[in-house]
Amino acid sequence: MIIEIEKGRQSTIDQLRDLAARFGNRIEVSQGHGVYDTVQVIGDTRELELREGYIRDLVGVRAAWNVASNYKNIARTIADEHGDVHHRDRRPVEVKGLDGKTRCFGGGKHIFIVGPDSPQTLDQMLAVARMARQLGEELGIIDRIMLRGGAFKPRTRPTDWRGLGMKGIAMLDRAREDTGLPYVTEVMDHALVPEIAEHADMLQIGTRNAQNFDLLESVGRVGKPAILKRGFGNEALEWFSAAEYIANQGNLDIVLCERGMKTLFTKGGYCRNQPDLNVIGHAHAQTILPVIFDPSHVAGDHKIVPANMLAACAHGVDGTIVETLHEEAFRADQLCDARQALLMTHYRTAVEAVLAFEAQVVPKLQAIDDALRDA
Ligand code: PEP
Ligand code: MN
Repeated sequence: MIIEIEKGRQSTIDQLRDLAARFGNRIEVSQGHGVYDTVQVIGDTRELELREGYIRDLVGVRAAWNVASNYKNIARTIADEHGDVHHRDRRPVEVKGLDGKTRCFGGGKHIFIVGPDSPQTLDQMLAVARMARQLGEELGIIDRIMLRGGAFKPRTRPTDWRGLGMKGIAMLDRAREDTGLPYVTEVMDHALVPEIAEHADMLQIGTRNAQNFDLLESVGRVGKPAILKRGFGNEALEWFSAAEYIANQGNLDIVLCERGMKTLFTKGGYCRNQPDLNVIGHAHAQTILPVIFDPSHVAGDHKIVPANMLAACAHGVDGTIVETLHEEAFRADQLCDARQALLMTHYRTAVEAVLAFEAQVVPKLQAIDDALRDA
């Protein structure tokens, strides 16, 4: 722990020294050039970290922060109990399909998660899934395709349609049997997590539940791969700390998903949520987890979904999760997120654009990254 303190606050320094000693720590004071000195607390500082708020309020203290990571299980860089620093490699997350193929997030190839906002009818779910299978086969990327569909829907108003629940899960199961493609579905109630985990290949924690700690821990306990969407008002640190709730139950198979935030600028209706593309590189640098992007909930409008998808590719995402529609006629019947559903035919063209981008542009961006790293 590091504490910045105004010069000449000897009584506060004495208080800090006593507090540190109570928990077996000691302090070292470094004289600063300006009006502040720096106090470093040495030793196992966990007890002091619990008292960070109290320390910040001591007379003359300007700032206090923990050097130890708030998310030790998923951090790229950690310090051990001796203070030695270790750098970890990024860790891919694998999802196996009934077709025997493994979808590998963070394995260097973009993973395409595709499907309706929500399963409503078996015909609709099967139609989207078959189109996804077909495009995967025709483009030679079947081991990079996965399905999505929310059977349990968090909705803003209780009168809105809230999904088919376990009936929707049964439709997703049928789509998987039919196509061999694995699927991800949202969980909302921690009590239902074990039951849903028996069906789904991957669980999603939505933006509204991003800090529902009981839910995060139950997803950690069932040990299924999980997508953790960023809370729509969460700082990056809060997002990574939420992932730590899953990780500290022993489940490291976590994929982070940026899906935009509500800001002052999303009020005009031209975009539903404001994407934070810069956070993709930051999450890669700070955590060992793969990072994907949701261009649909960012857009709110299917016309701008492909552009958002490509923009995230420029930032090095490990995949995208896109809401799609099998035929235009169904848009009128889609009960949630209809406006942002991209027609499967347009989705296919967007996938082709991502593949072209991967082949042509990504190596050049990679060369710049490598040059900057070596500089
Ligand atoms: C969804 O994926 O349909 C969804 C509700 O996502 P989010 O939690 O990002 O709004
Ligand atoms: Mn949706």
